[in-house]
Amino acid sequence: MNIQSLIRENIKTLKPYSTARDEFKGTAEVYLDANENPFPTTYNRYPDPLQKKVKQRISELKGIEPEKIFLGNGSDEPIDLIIRAFCEPGKDSILISEPTYGMYAVCAGINNVPVKRVTLDPNFDLDLEAIKQALDGSVKVIFLCSPNNPSGNLLSKEKITELIASVNSIVVIDEAYIDFANDDGFLPVLDKYPNLIVLQTFSKAWGLAGLRLGMAFATKEIISVLNKIKYPYNINILTQQVALEKLSTVEEKNKQVDTILQQRSALIQQLQTLSMVQRVYPTDANFVLVKMKGARNIYDLLIERSIIVRDRSTVVLCADCLRITVGTPEENLKLIETLKTL
Ligand SMILES: *Cc1c(COP(=O)(O)O)cnc(C)c1O
Repeated sequence: MNIQSLIRENIKTLKPYSTARDEFKGTAEVYLDANENPFPTTYNRYPDPLQKKVKQRISELKGIEPEKIFLGNGSDEPIDLIIRAFCEPGKDSILISEPTYGMYAVCAGINNVPVKRVTLDPNFDLDLEAIKQALDGSVKVIFLCSPNNPSGNLLSKEKITELIASVNSIVVIDEAYIDFANDDGFLPVLDKYPNLIVLQTFSKAWGLAGLRLGMAFATKEIISVLNKIKYPYNINILTQQVALEKLSTVEEKNKQVDTILQQRSALIQQLQTLSMVQRVYPTDANFVLVKMKGARNIYDLLIERSIIVRDRSTVVLCADCLRITVGTPEENLKLIETLKTL
């Protein structure tokens, strides 16, 4: 498979910006190369443009070489960069399987890249036949989300694998919620597929949504394209420092994930006892999709009682559905007690 033939011509020939820190890579006593203020404030120097220390720790944790890791300002940055690297505006397209995360279509729209929309099957799994029918030569990138947002389920591994192996497009698997799933996801097979990009994030299980740090994993060839077109200093010093600290406390994250998973089971059990609840969909994430009689009305009543959930009732396959994030034990209790009074 020839990845170079999928990259936009102007990106292939682009000469990237070379930062002062790209040109001199060693350590020195005196830095007079970047027009920084010389007086130390902790933040007076530019950050490492390739975030080598953070990537080293992620590499140890995930067993993926640092050169196969890209770090972005949230996952949103790699989503945008992937579209800009591979899709010629007004000509090439992306394909998504709905209902799914909204940012793929938004980023495509901003870039004037058409979106082919294929509906998931009634179990929220991939409809491979429909996807294959929608694949004309213009689809450069397929975005899959597993576990899927807003349905919460993992997509079938067999179907994803078949798709990656059979298409002449980039396949992005967004694994923002993989820490909550009883599954390794696709990092273990990263080396098998030259067209595979896996996205993960520090925003969910790691508890760092405010930090804005997302990860993309792919071949060195693809990662070098993303590095070439990103903003030179895209991850600031504070984010890199906090990420390094957090990466040395993996046990804390794992404990919180365990608690969230216990709470998820309890929340599902309690939701199922409520008469307004018609269906709680199976979930591999830190949220549940719940079908309720009069979902929109319940959503409004919850807001009046200062509880905010996500109304997905206008989304395809999600009629009368609310998406509820698993909170602390106290928050979940408050939700259930409040629902009982409605
Ligand atoms: C929350 C979420 C993300 C995370 O985005 P960040 O920009 O990293 O905060 C990515 N993908 C999906 C499907 C999500 O639900």
